Amino acid sequence: MRRAVCPGSFDPIHNGHVEIIARASSLFDEVIVAVSTNYAKKYKFEAADRLEMVQETIGGLRGVSVQPMGEGLLADFCRENGADAIVKGLRSTVDYQYEIPMAVMNRHLTGVETVFLAADNRYTHLSSSLLKEVQSLGGDVSDYLPRTVLKRLNHG
Ligand code: ADP
Repeated sequence: MRRAVCPGSFDPIHNGHVEIIARASSLFDEVIVAVSTNYAKKYKFEAADRLEMVQETIGGLRGVSVQPMGEGLLADFCRENGADAIVKGLRSTVDYQYEIPMAVMNRHLTGVETVFLAADNRYTHLSSSLLKEVQSLGGDVSDYLPRTVLKRLNHG
């Protein structure tokens, strides 16, 4: 049984995330989407809402579950949940430079490996912050966001 964790703050989840989670679920028997919260950061959506949007979006994917991760170490979360791997999407060399030290540190801490998937080129320009900014200024980002997220953004 191979289990992977897809971590992120998902503020909010977008189609770039969904694509990576779906690909992770085809590579692993089980995938846990871990919704993190860094209490020093300011989020648009509360932790419970971010978790709910992830659940509503990917709830139908076989073998995929969603859990809150809080502020603890990702390596500890993986160990506590019996995960062999962390799966991350890479959009660019900027992501690469940011991710490699974390991957090496996580492996040092608990032996957990990080698997990088190249972001699909339909989504390499996407980030939650860009989508929130464009949406808040009236731009149409409906091609990139799950329905549940669009609904909340339009009523928020
Ligand atoms: P953060 O860890 O900064 O809170 P996010 O919640 O935005 O990051 O994203 C979580 C993870 O999803 C990232 O670490 C990255 O692996 C992946 N990701 C983010 N945006 C994309 C994208 N457009 N395409 C593929 N993967 C992405």
